[in-house]
Amino acid sequence: MKRILLLISAVAVLLLSCDGGSSYINYTNDSSYTDADNDGIPDVAEISGTSFYGMPLYDWGARTGQPDIFVHVAPMNPATTDAGMMLQKKALDKVVAKFDENGISLHFDVGKYGLYEGYNELSNRGYSDYNLSGTSHVVPYSQYIDISGTSSSFVSLTNLMSEYLSYNRTQIFYFMVMGSEQYTYNGSSGIAYLNDRRFLITLAGGGLGFFGPNPTLGLTSDNFENYVVNNQASTIMHEFGHTLGLRHGGDESQNYKPNYYSIMNYLYQLNGLPRIGTNEWDRYYYERYIESASSPYQVSNLWSDLMVDFYDSYTTDQYETDYSYASLLPLDFKDNAFSDTYNMDYSYGEGGDLVETTLNENLGLRQSGSNPVDWDGDSLFEASVSADINVSDTEDNAGVTTLHDHNDWGNLFLYFNSVSAGTARTQNNDEAEIIIEKIRDYKAIPFEGSF
Ligand SMILES: [Zn+2]
Repeated sequence: MKRILLLISAVAVLLLSCDGGSSYINYTNDSSYTDADNDGIPDVAEISGTSFYGMPLYDWGARTGQPDIFVHVAPMNPATTDAGMMLQKKALDKVVAKFDENGISLHFDVGKYGLYEGYNELSNRGYSDYNLSGTSHVVPYSQYIDISGTSSSFVSLTNLMSEYLSYNRTQIFYFMVMGSEQYTYNGSSGIAYLNDRRFLITLAGGGLGFFGPNPTLGLTSDNFENYVVNNQASTIMHEFGHTLGLRHGGDESQNYKPNYYSIMNYLYQLNGLPRIGTNEWDRYYYERYIESASSPYQVSNLWSDLMVDFYDSYTTDQYETDYSYASLLPLDFKDNAFSDTYNMDYSYGEGGDLVETTLNENLGLRQSGSNPVDWDGDSLFEASVSADINVSDTEDNAGVTTLHDHNDWGNLFLYFNSVSAGTARTQNNDEAEIIIEKIRDYKAIPFEGSF
């Protein structure tokens, strides 16, 4: 203990003397420092009056006794009015709130420019409004952005990090680009490196916009704003989840597991989590009977039969008249992406298994309070049916298996804690696994006057 204290005071004196009068005691990484909250920031650098590699992390919200995560956001200059590129403050608020609920203090640093409310860029923001650095993090517009610079005609996530993330920032910041579109995987919502620090959001060209109202569909302008905010928030949380070690099935790549109650699951990434006990089957039925065009189960009539009660209670006749069943939109989901009750979350792993050989349909998604789900679509709730219920997963679906939930929150991988204090925190880790989101089928919702 004495040795550590002596070391600290030596460092402090050294840095105070060359810091031009700043009152901050600066620290750099050293293996002798303790990090009781396991966030990769030494406890001594989470105390008032200190800095870490010149960054006042305490002033920026870091504290001892809580994991702190810092994310450097590089907003690409939108160059157009595509709302998919205009990072919404409300989207960041939602992600931060969800981490906060789980005891993790998440600090986005968007810098001085590039944060929006609607189409309006917000100005004069301070620490509490995602401007920690006080400088611009904006990167130039490029119609396309990719992972690692395979094409000279557009920018890449990795090259942007090398160019824009300073050495000091590499000590503690994750790196997120709010980008444009992908070229090879055009329509994909993002890219992330698993167990790493880099992730990319590509929501441009997806038909997101601050439209409305649409009285016919019962949508107000606020509903359209919710749609942009919820899509951004959910995608940011999903991509960041990959950097924190989560796959599309939690601890495995198997996707579309209905009982994996997480936005890492494609069943829920852009439509949010279903409400347990209230039409909790809606995302599943939609995916299975409408979206999954290659599925042997795709039968539009089945979808309409299953949804008919739902329509009667939630939609206008006009809606049914204007849209064929084949082009139905997931507008009627409970807590859908247009609503302010939209629910995005990582899973807590509390769901039971779904054994596809002997599914008890009465147990639904296997969450506490679950209602029945008609897994095989025969309009009966049976005690034992066999069905491949994550059939939309064309990559890792092993057929009729046992599907399990996963405790995401209890198993997050914190990159900076994984790098031993005192060792170099390298700029890139190109051995990390890359996860590129599958191209999603975005559907624009018509607003007033467009139909
Ligand atoms: Zn993903």
